[in-house]
Amino acid sequence: MRAEIITSGTELLLGDLVDTNAAYLSRQLRGLGITVHYRTTVGDNEERTAEAIALAMRRADLVIITGGLGPTVDDVTRQAVARATGRPLVLHPELLAAIEARFRSFGYRMTENNIQQAYIPAGAVVIENPVGTAPCFAVETPTGAVIALPGVPRELEYLMEHAVIPYLRERFGLHEVIKTRVLKTCAIGESAVDQRIADLMQSRNPTIGLNAHPGQTDVRITAKAATEEEAERLLDEMEARVRERLGDSIYGTGAQTLEEVVLQLLQARGETLAVLETVTGGQLTQRLASVRDVVGFAGGIVAAAERAVSAIGATWDESGDACLAAQTVANAVRHRFGATYGLAVVGAQGGSAIAFAGPAASDCQILTRPTRDAFGRTWVVTTALNLLRRHILSR
Ligand code: ATP
Repeated sequence: MRAEIITSGTELLLGDLVDTNAAYLSRQLRGLGITVHYRTTVGDNEERTAEAIALAMRRADLVIITGGLGPTVDDVTRQAVARATGRPLVLHPELLAAIEARFRSFGYRMTENNIQQAYIPAGAVVIENPVGTAPCFAVETPTGAVIALPGVPRELEYLMEHAVIPYLRERFGLHEVIKTRVLKTCAIGESAVDQRIADLMQSRNPTIGLNAHPGQTDVRITAKAATEEEAERLLDEMEARVRERLGDSIYGTGAQTLEEVVLQLLQARGETLAVLETVTGGQLTQRLASVRDVVGFAGGIVAAAERAVSAIGATWDESGDACLAAQTVANAVRHRFGATYGLAVVGAQGGSAIAFAGPAASDCQILTRPTRDAFGRTWVVTTALNLLRRHILSR
């Protein structure tokens, strides 16, 4: 089955709003085994929206449009779907009653233009919206449907999960399950990952794709199967093969972050971490401080320059070995916060020195990549966290 996604809203075209609905819908449809060939964004204009829907209906079986279901004149989705499907808008008494009831429950009086919201294309199936005021509907066509859903992401997600996905499964007999698993690697470049698993990447089911970020590469495994269990089994098998090749370059899965994993490793050992950074604009501290529900981050110092490390009782030896100096700073910040480990990211030779100091060992690496831009800073912070992660795992 082929689908198209249309997101409506002039603010999307102007660039004032990032289109998260389209990405969300793509992921959901992929999970149902539905192929999305096109996504269109259209402004709040009835004629152009109707054209976009009509074109999508010629190319796809299922068309999902979000936004433009409100009561104001720039909400044109109802009219546009009616035009594209050749059906008149008719008053839906149950929908009107539901809108009235909702207004009553809020203690508001319904205005004339809210009545407009109860007009939907003749014969459309109403999709109840218990989480918002925008009435949603599906117009069934010989091969599929045109489904109009709210623009507000929270409402859209609720309705997809509770109404639209069950409806699509039932109506179109969708039994195929598509499941994805992401293995997160760091400090091994995309091309190195590619080289190590090149043969696995030829696999048709599951398929493997790579996604590179600064200092990290995600390995995305996607399996298609008749049941959830079968899809999970395919994922397990492929994950095991990928892990064999990439070993502990894989630091986590799914939404896990490297900083979260480092703090979890420390927490499991009853240990803590303090950091000092001079060239990464506070990113190391910020990433660690943002980790929720994990203890272990004792604190961070963001210093403007290497000489500022004197504030914590360390001296910065510019003339000597940058690695040794960075380790001294790591040790000083560790003592300052009474933490098990200290991690330092300081400027050195146009690049940076990353060092950790712990109760039994310390280590350092010189990185030549400049930290002038966000990419460089993220790369350095990731590499520093990974240096400590590898040490903890090796003990
Ligand atoms: P309602 O009338 O209940 O507000 P609606 O269906 O008319 O809903 P819109 O008015 O088009 O939806 O959008 C409401 C809000 O939802 C927008 O102001 C925006 O914040 C958010 N939104 C709309 N479309 C998108 C999108 N494609 N991606 C992310 N957010 C969106």
